[in-house]
Amino acid sequence: MKKNKTDGKVKVEEQSSTSNEGITNGSTILRSVLESYDEAAKYVKMPSGIYEMLRQCKRELTVSFPVRMDDGTVKTFTGYRVHHNTVRGPSKGGIRYHPSVDLDDVRALAMLMTWKCTVVGIPYGGAKGGVVCDPKDMSDRELENLTRRYATEISVFLSPEGDIPAPDVNTDGRIMSWIMDTYSMHRGYSVPAVVTGKPLSIGGSPGRSEATGRGVMFCVREALKHLKMPVDGSTVVVQGFGKVGSVAAYLLQDKGLKITAVSDVFGGIYNSKGIDVYDLLRHVEETGSVKDYPHGDAISNEELLTLKCDILVPAAMENQITARNASQIRAKIVAEGANGPTTPEADRILGENNVFIVPDILCNAGGVTVSYFEWVQGLQFFFWSEREINVRLRDIMVRSFKDVLQTSKEKKVNMRVAALILAIERVAEATRLRGIYP
Ligand code: NAD
Repeated sequence: MKKNKTDGKVKVEEQSSTSNEGITNGSTILRSVLESYDEAAKYVKMPSGIYEMLRQCKRELTVSFPVRMDDGTVKTFTGYRVHHNTVRGPSKGGIRYHPSVDLDDVRALAMLMTWKCTVVGIPYGGAKGGVVCDPKDMSDRELENLTRRYATEISVFLSPEGDIPAPDVNTDGRIMSWIMDTYSMHRGYSVPAVVTGKPLSIGGSPGRSEATGRGVMFCVREALKHLKMPVDGSTVVVQGFGKVGSVAAYLLQDKGLKITAVSDVFGGIYNSKGIDVYDLLRHVEETGSVKDYPHGDAISNEELLTLKCDILVPAAMENQITARNASQIRAKIVAEGANGPTTPEADRILGENNVFIVPDILCNAGGVTVSYFEWVQGLQFFFWSEREINVRLRDIMVRSFKDVLQTSKEKKVNMRVAALILAIERVAEATRLRGIYP
């Protein structure tokens, strides 16, 4: 991209053939992340060289490594770790185990992590990692062998001061424990701050498991306040009843909102009088799904998204609100618990219909915020109470929501573009202050 400054804005003029070398033929998610970046960058005063720099990932590592399988054979796996930017601090981001892991997706997700950490003002840059594998087909021992070898291969990137992984798709506290242990074995002493999302007994943080859903709840409350809508009795529909959706649902219910529909991958349930989320959690514990919950009517995921409600919380997966169903969405607020649940085309349609969107990089940033608290506690070997953590999380989420709203009003853009503008401005400012080495 070539850029010129006009009226204090940086204008994107044309696509050059070289500027995105290595990341032009990317995945859908990379294209959409770069498209959003370009749109927001038009509002940011920065030299074109900084614009170019932020469009690229700072460093990328591809590793290919052998793992001994249970049947005695040796299988070779491919893994990645990408740092998008480290100007504001060490890089932070999850590690994903999935057959479809691809370098372009990892680049895009690393870039999103830079913006997410920056929007909520925590001192991190963005990273992401992944291994092409299907954990469903692997035994515990194979998974541990793979994790320890991958952690060793990418250890040139990892450190508490440099790069701190966390769980992502198909990785969890157990895998973080193996990474922490592997890194610690190489150092000769325990280094808890090298990963977050660890179990409590080895330096995890109280409040981490609820943090993303809790952050969604704080954002919904702020959005209601801004739109002068009541908290009591406002209706909520939640797609996805996992770590994010279920917590957001019961915390919103605790605050007086009415949860009228909930779904998971197997289907959904609807009750216009409201669903008792705690009773539903017991049902899910017993049966493994919200489906067949007796105090509601069965509903499909597609129907659920278009229900009349005040707040829709997509908390399942990406690309759920698309050009196909966006015009039928009847919620006044969409609070994005999931990453990338709304496609760029759907985003435009929702905007035309005056739906207020709390974008993912703000709405689900509660998780990385408490990961940051875990890291701080790990560095100091001094642990805080759950109450302290929840209060600090609330302060950060509320302040960040207000910052994004303020930018949205000043620049006359929607919340998604505003969040990105804020993040890009902050990273560009940090780069300017640090200067270009040498
Ligand atoms: P999870 O696996 O715990 O839960 C996902 C839920 O979505 C499950 O109830 C599953 O049944 C449901 N689901 C899956 N496919 C579905 C479909 N097609 N239709 C309806 N429901 C479906 O995952 P999670 O950790 O709750 O993550 C949900 C989203 O939030 C993801 O996009 C994730 O990237 C994002 N996110 C999670 C965190 C976190 O801390 N867990 C942080 C930031 C963002």
